[in-house]
Formats: sequence, C-alpha cells, structure tokens
Amino acid sequence: MTRLGECLEDELLERNSRPGVTRKEWEEAQVRRLNEDAGGLNRRDGIDCPRCRNKGWLYRNTEEGLTALPCDCLRRREIMRRIDESGLGQSIRAYTFDRFADREDWQKTMKQTAQAFCADENARWFYIGGQPGSGKTHLCTAICDFYIRRGLDTRYLLWAEKSKQLKAAVNDSYRSYAAALEEYKRIPVLYIDDFLKVRQGGVPSDGDLNLAFELINARLLSPDRITVISSEKTLEEAMTYDEATISRIAQQCGKYRIDVDWDREKNYRLRG
Ligand SMILES: [Zn+2]
Repeated sequence: MTRLGECLEDELLERNSRPGVTRKEWEEAQVRRLNEDAGGLNRRDGIDCPRCRNKGWLYRNTEEGLTALPCDCLRRREIMRRIDESGLGQSIRAYTFDRFADREDWQKTMKQTAQAFCADENARWFYIGGQPGSGKTHLCTAICDFYIRRGLDTRYLLWAEKSKQLKAAVNDSYRSYAAALEEYKRIPVLYIDDFLKVRQGGVPSDGDLNLAFELINARLLSPDRITVISSEKTLEEAMTYDEATISRIAQQCGKYRIDVDWDREKNYRLRG
C-alpha cells in the first residue's frame, strides 16, 4: 500500500468509529475529496483538464484499496512537451498534412511521398529540395508532427541560424562545440530546414561543410535516427559541395526524395 493509502487507512479507522458513517460512505467521500483537489500541471503546459483537475491522476476505490490511475491528459501533456522542446513552435499546428494545399498534381505527389515516408517503418531519411514557396517546410513539419505524436523526441534545426551558433562555439572551445552538436546527433528525429543555405550567390564555407559532414555522418551511423531535410538545393546541386556526404543522403532516402523545379513559365513541377 502507498504511503498515502496508509495515512488514509489510519484516518479511516479513526473516523469509522464515528456513528452514522459506513466505511463505504467514508471511502467514497475520501475519493471524492482527493479528486476535487486541484493540481498545477496546467501552469506548466497550459492544458486544462477538468477530469483530473490538472493533477494527472484519478483516484478510485478498487479491490486493492485506494488506487491512483493516470489520467488521459498525461499523454496530451507529453505531446505538448515534445512540441515545446522541438523548437517547431506554433507552426506545428498550422503545417499539418490536412492543411497542405494539394490542388495540383505535383503537390499531390509531394504529399503522398511524405505520407508514405511516415507510413514506412524502415524509412529514416527524407529530403525535399528546390524552389522556395513550394511547401517544403510545411510538409517536413507535418512529418515531425507525426513522429512527435508517435512519442519520439524531435528537434528543429534552422541551418543558417544554428550553423552560425555552432561555428561560434567552436571558437570558444571544441568541447562546447561538441556538446552543442551532440544533441542534434543523438535526437531521435531531426529536421534540418534550409540545409546548406548561404547568402545569395555564395557557396557554403568550409566550416559549414565540416559541420554538415560531422552531423550527417553521425546520424548515418545510428540506424534508428530519423532525419528530415529541406533545402533550396536539390540533392544534385548539393552534391557539388560535398559529393560523398550528399550521395550518402541520396542513397539513404531512396524513393523518399523530392526535387521541386520550375518549368519555363516558372510553374512548379517535380523533377524525376
Ligand atoms: Zn487529466
């Protein structure tokens, strides 16, 4: 019996000696009182649960005595924590598969490929490259949402911003750089947005390419990690920077890669 159970048992024996209250009535009153107590989980995650009053537990009298059962809201709170920690923020609510515009055939193919990737338990690498404004970030975010709801810790990495921070860390000390990078190597699901993005007309620096090499290869060596990448460069274009690393990505993606292109009238189309 739990400590709480023991305390209540003592109190019960004392009170049960009072006339007019049966043991059963008293037990029911205790359970009611415990369930009416408010907890503070909502202050942390903003989810208000009227069932457990934000304690995360529901009390019941069972054959084993007073029992605390987890409330359904704990699962929702867990998903919320993963969303918060992912760095995807509010976009995860806006960028769902349902909200992805798929009027055109090329959009339908993009969405189907992303959904097939999620449905494939053996798939680990997803790459979508090419023209901006085609919904790349939207689809990759929807993929992340899928994995978060499956209970996997997920991180969002905006390349231009994060690579700058990581490269700054390398100047402080290799140890702080390695520690900062370690999280992205280890996280079960990583979404790299705008991979290898540089200022217009520029090419990635050696620092950028070293970082990409280290991160991508660490994840390639861990077969369970899932890596989702979007970039303005198609895989072929990115190969001109670092053929070995990028061709390994292409190999891992297999059919889960999308290259978005423009035709002569600047209409989107898929290459392939
Ligand atoms: Zn609850």
